[in-house]
Amino acid sequence: MSRNPRYDILFEPIQIGPVTTKNRFYQVPHCTGMGYRMPETLAGMRGMKAEGGWGVVNTEYCSIHWTSDDTPFQSAQVWDQDDMRGNALMVEQVHEYGALAGLELYHGGAYAANNYSRLPPIGIACNAAGQLGEPLQTVEMSKADIREFRKWHRDAAVRGMEAGYDIIYVYACHWYLLTQFLHPNNTRSDEYGGSLPNRVRLIREVLEDTKEAVGDKCGVAIRFSAGQGGDSPRDIDEARAAIEILKDLPDLWDVTLDDYTFEMGTSRFVKEGGLESTINYVKELTNKPVVSVGRFTSPDSMLRMVNQGVIDLIGCARPSIADPFLPNKIDEGREDEIRECIGCNICYTGDQVYNPIRCTQNPTMGEEWRRGWHPEKIAKKGSDKSVLIVGAGPAGLEAAVSLGKRGYSVTLAEATTELGGRVLRESELPGLAEWSRVVDYRVGQLAKLSNVEVYRDSRLDAEQVLEFGADEVVLATGSEWRRTGVGHWHSAPMEGWEAANINIFTPDDLMAGRLPTGPVLLFDDDHYYMGGLLAEKLRALDLEVTLVTPNAKASYYTSKTEEHERVQAGLIEMGVELQLNTALQSLKPGRAILACAYTGRTREVDATDVVMVTTREPANSLYHELVDQIAITRIGDCLAPSTIAAAVYSGHRFARELDEPQSEGAPFKRERVGPLPA
Ligand code: ADP
Ligand code: SF4
Repeated sequence: MSRNPRYDILFEPIQIGPVTTKNRFYQVPHCTGMGYRMPETLAGMRGMKAEGGWGVVNTEYCSIHWTSDDTPFQSAQVWDQDDMRGNALMVEQVHEYGALAGLELYHGGAYAANNYSRLPPIGIACNAAGQLGEPLQTVEMSKADIREFRKWHRDAAVRGMEAGYDIIYVYACHWYLLTQFLHPNNTRSDEYGGSLPNRVRLIREVLEDTKEAVGDKCGVAIRFSAGQGGDSPRDIDEARAAIEILKDLPDLWDVTLDDYTFEMGTSRFVKEGGLESTINYVKELTNKPVVSVGRFTSPDSMLRMVNQGVIDLIGCARPSIADPFLPNKIDEGREDEIRECIGCNICYTGDQVYNPIRCTQNPTMGEEWRRGWHPEKIAKKGSDKSVLIVGAGPAGLEAAVSLGKRGYSVTLAEATTELGGRVLRESELPGLAEWSRVVDYRVGQLAKLSNVEVYRDSRLDAEQVLEFGADEVVLATGSEWRRTGVGHWHSAPMEGWEAANINIFTPDDLMAGRLPTGPVLLFDDDHYYMGGLLAEKLRALDLEVTLVTPNAKASYYTSKTEEHERVQAGLIEMGVELQLNTALQSLKPGRAILACAYTGRTREVDATDVVMVTTREPANSLYHELVDQIAITRIGDCLAPSTIAAAVYSGHRFARELDEPQSEGAPFKRERVGPLPA
């Protein structure tokens, strides 16, 4: 198939200083949780994006110096020549496919706690430092320190150029050192503080240094905030005035906004193109190309952004993670095959919990090097076995698609009339509509696979599974939320969970439309999105809702997906009563006993309608009935309930591994420290 000519403009080359990108698809810098410790893993992942057609592929934030050590968060690094070997790996793999490689130079200033290097953080003044509440303060940078910093930045830019990078960033947004200088609270009395021109001075100097050092070979980009954005617009005039000062100095403007929770907001809170109204003035101010993000997955939205002159390059982080081959799919007229990002931010948890990035939609993300997984290619089948998959939630659907692509003869049986399992149910919760893309993409793929037969409305029992006689049976039958209170807090059923005058509801009940009618006590011992979302749903029905959780935060794990502040603020605004640091200890007729999570002190409250959001029970009865009789494997939630991302991964892994030889050691390659000196 060939490209729809209406998208031709997306494939025009764009000049960025001395270099030219072959098209407008621009993977902006994004964190990965891999950093300098995983150069092979990183290079494999970035190289895959280049293979998928991105014109520019950038690093994540890349520390220029040991006074900017973000441990435990994993940044990339260009401290010295030794680091450049890892960087060269990425550059090589990105260049192999004709893409430009960009390097985002970063100094965290007060934000870098230097937990590993053990040097005092540096900053504009002697202020609080770190991001995790560390007991730290910064050293106030003298003018000599500022000169030193400029030298570090310049040297890092040169190392980047020598390693083959085509674009070098001056990173002047998000909370890092250059932004700390820019911020209105920089009241330094020297020429680097106070007035706006003074606060912009260091950024201007660093831009000039970088241009002078590498500008004849590399494009020099600036990443900069165009305003507060989202629902709390800051004085945009100041951002505009700063951009006016710098306007034609860089070769490229990568514009974003101050509010990171909006910039990379989940789809629950921010829709495609959410930055447009904040950043759309920047192109008027500069003759240089402008790139910005907006979780663009629709080629028509991309087209509109370019045609209306909002941006020149389509910046993507998450859409490139969910589908590294997005540009090629548009180029080949296969835009209906784009695996669209759902805006869940599971990818961001990689950075936040210090492990390599993963993605709900793209199970191969992060596995390119260590398992050799390619998002678009999969080995041909290893036998003529027939496979029966029971259950069409995310695990069953992914297994069916991937086994189908391998060429196996696959039957997918689903008990209900609709495919999608928990994803279908959950995408009807407030704000989660885009999650249904997990199903849409896979159902679209199944339609192209004549070797996969799908049976809806087909609840199979053990006898039917045996009768079917498949060579391999895969159970993807999911899980059910528990009523008993068993979870993180209670390892055995909660005392009184069957008490008289208490109606227990689970998330499954609520999603199926079985709703409480009186005041609700919701016990959230799951800590991710479900408890908060159900509280929101019930409150919207005008019910009184008290959310009880042993955690200090409501929906704690949403802090890892950068949405917690919005979640908790939303609950408070809606009038959900939060009882934090509190457990639902037990129930008795018409009463709940609550316990302080620290002292254990208890108190009683009235309760009749109790929603238990704790843990889930795998639906694996078929497995126990059949395990001794046939080859049967559990995948997804019926093996171990977890995220949708984990269910998709589980289904994918099964499909990859069927009939493939398994190594006796770890099933993936690991990054190793180099040989120790003799
Ligand atoms: P996962 O997240 O692991 O994919 P889900 O709970 O989303 O799990 O999906 C499980 C699916 O399996 C649901 O759509 C459910 O209707 C289906 N299912 C459960 N038991 C059977 C069965 N015995 N036969 C066919 N389908 C089943
Ligand atoms: Fe998008 Fe979720 Fe994948 Fe991140 S994890 S790229 S938000 S689908």
